[in-house]
Amino acid sequence: MTELQALFPETYEGSRERFCNDLSTVQTLWPKAKLFQHVLSDDKDLTIDWLYSDATERNEKVVMVTTGEHGVECYVGSAILQRFIEVYMPRLDPRTTGILLVHAINPWGMKHRRRGNANNIDLNRTFLWDMGFDSTFNPEYDRIDSFLNPPSKLTNFFLSDLAYFLGLVWHIGRMGLRGFDGAQLLGQYHQPKGLFYGGKEMPEETRTLMGLYRQMLGSYKQVLHLDMHTGYGPRYQMSLVNSALDKRTSAKFVKRFDYPLVVAATADEFYAIRGDMIDYIYTLQQNEFPRTKLYATSFEFGAYGNVLHGLIHSPRVMIHENRVYWYGAGNEKILARAKHGFEELFNPAARDWREKAVADADQAFTGILKVEGFIP
Ligand SMILES: [Zn+2]
Repeated sequence: MTELQALFPETYEGSRERFCNDLSTVQTLWPKAKLFQHVLSDDKDLTIDWLYSDATERNEKVVMVTTGEHGVECYVGSAILQRFIEVYMPRLDPRTTGILLVHAINPWGMKHRRRGNANNIDLNRTFLWDMGFDSTFNPEYDRIDSFLNPPSKLTNFFLSDLAYFLGLVWHIGRMGLRGFDGAQLLGQYHQPKGLFYGGKEMPEETRTLMGLYRQMLGSYKQVLHLDMHTGYGPRYQMSLVNSALDKRTSAKFVKRFDYPLVVAATADEFYAIRGDMIDYIYTLQQNEFPRTKLYATSFEFGAYGNVLHGLIHSPRVMIHENRVYWYGAGNEKILARAKHGFEELFNPAARDWREKAVADADQAFTGILKVEGFIP
């Protein structure tokens, strides 16, 4: 079994190599498992990789684990995926259970340690059903655009933090906390350098994953999908974030899975999003595969916390990182500080954090796989 710190990869390439080598482990249970990949059109060194196998006797149910929709979050995602392969996969029944494991939905973002892809697109704003990439959507975003995306070099942390705090107080005073969060997080399709940008057309990463989801929903009677994220929620308690389209209450899930923290991706419990990947898979199931049983959720490993400190500082580090990416920093030290804060939000280095993250994942895997009938 991989030791705790070694679970967390240092580089995109190292993580991908380990994942590709997992094929032989998967094949001990699913002899026909194969490694597939999508090579990004603009950079042949970057690939979305997945391991897939049908059940060995009959396709009844499938478990999918996906990682790295937000590239930088794949360092933790890869660790948890590896944990799943080593500890939980051997407990599945290959005769009736298929398996789909996806490494780095957004490989560019993983390699370059950003949330978005090479075009600054937040892929979790691009899984749109029956609607286009509407540049007029979320006009409220423009009211906070210059606050979220200051169009100049970051030269002084003290001054930019001061501007941030004043701006935050002013915007929340004006729009209310919910209005502000909504404008910020919902997604936008017209500020290409801005945070939470969804692009102008469907990215290839999104198209690739949509194809896989369609294939799974069409091939099995039951689909379980677990998607790995970091950055939001309390620091020492991973949140299970359910789709708003799953109408069962969070309290019910807490009980069913014997897992302490479950929230729904609604403005009340988490935050609302347009173009969310988990919403997409529910919509696809409801519209085209109504007879397939589906449970899809996200594991959200928080870092800065969701009390005041975290709520204030999470956007701050994202703003700084995006700003130095587009406009640069006054010196190397400022650049390093901006990048470090961002890294600590999405890929915390502390050993105790990593221990708790793995323990929480263990508890969630066990509860979900049991209740969904994948392990005894
Ligand atoms: Zn994420």
